[in-house]
Amino acid sequence: MKNIYKNSLQNLNKAKKVLKKNNIIAVPTETVYGLAGNAYSSSAIRKIYKIKKRPSKNPLIIHYYNLKKLKKDAIIDNKFLKLYKKFSPGPLTYVVKKKKNSKISILANANLKTIAIRFPKNPIVRSLLKSLEFPLAIPSANLSSGVSPINIYDVVEEFGNRIKFILDGGTTKIGLESTVINLYGKIQILRPGSINKNEIKKVLGKKVSILRKIKKISSPGLLKRHYSPGIPIKLNCKKPDYKAAFIVFGKRFKRGKHIFNLSHKGNLNEAGRKLYITLRKIKNLGYKKINVVRIPNSKIGIAINDRLRKAAY
Ligand code: AMP
Ligand code: MG
Repeated sequence: MKNIYKNSLQNLNKAKKVLKKNNIIAVPTETVYGLAGNAYSSSAIRKIYKIKKRPSKNPLIIHYYNLKKLKKDAIIDNKFLKLYKKFSPGPLTYVVKKKKNSKISILANANLKTIAIRFPKNPIVRSLLKSLEFPLAIPSANLSSGVSPINIYDVVEEFGNRIKFILDGGTTKIGLESTVINLYGKIQILRPGSINKNEIKKVLGKKVSILRKIKKISSPGLLKRHYSPGIPIKLNCKKPDYKAAFIVFGKRFKRGKHIFNLSHKGNLNEAGRKLYITLRKIKNLGYKKINVVRIPNSKIGIAINDRLRKAAY
């Protein structure tokens, strides 16, 4: 495919040129693939919203190489620094106060007082961030409310050749979006992810809650329906309905025609990696409905259940 670029120094340089012209590209991160654009450029940000068909009220996560580059744009405090030391670079997104004179386009954060920031770990996107003189706004590389992509084929399935530049970084390591934690005002997890509440609590030495009710706050991961493969999903099923694809977990389930096991070994991390690829596969096989067994609600299982609930809504 013409729009796929292997990971090489030459192609990374090409990617940087595209970004500097305020065009957008698809990039791998350790969580899922994203659509990246210059966060200081309203023209680039407009392109991201347009191609994703994303409501303009849903702010984007701004990605940085390190603290030094962040300091122009955000006000940070001790809580942030503690978490940063432990979890960044990595799959944790912080909502912090935006600096008044920050150059982040107001379209990127839906004109809020805050911005969501992340320091991704994937070396390909880090190499871009390191040498660019602007941070990158990177939402997941899928149409709004759909299933996030975990490899280049998923990105192509979402956008065809409307994305002219896709950097190939293989399959993403984690396969679920980052944990989002609010640090401005009430400390709260806005979106569960692979870094869980207890790990965060340990570092902060404080109680951390998970936001349950969807309030007015503009947070796209909190839209009631999201991560949807476009067919009905029923959760906590003991047995599958007639002709339904049955998503299961653990070795007590035998292999079978309509059975899709997220992890035979009963490993939640594996299940997280396989969730989106399984939803996509089931949809592409032409199933009209999906049944899912109960998935253990601990560690990354909390994030898996969060995505399944929203996909089922
Ligand atoms: P996505 O780009 O699809 O991974 O989703 C972006 C996520 O970032 C959403 O789930 C929101 O929770 C979060 N987000 C971005 N900006 C803000 C903000 N300023 N305040 C609260 N949440 C935000
Ligand atoms: Mg998304």
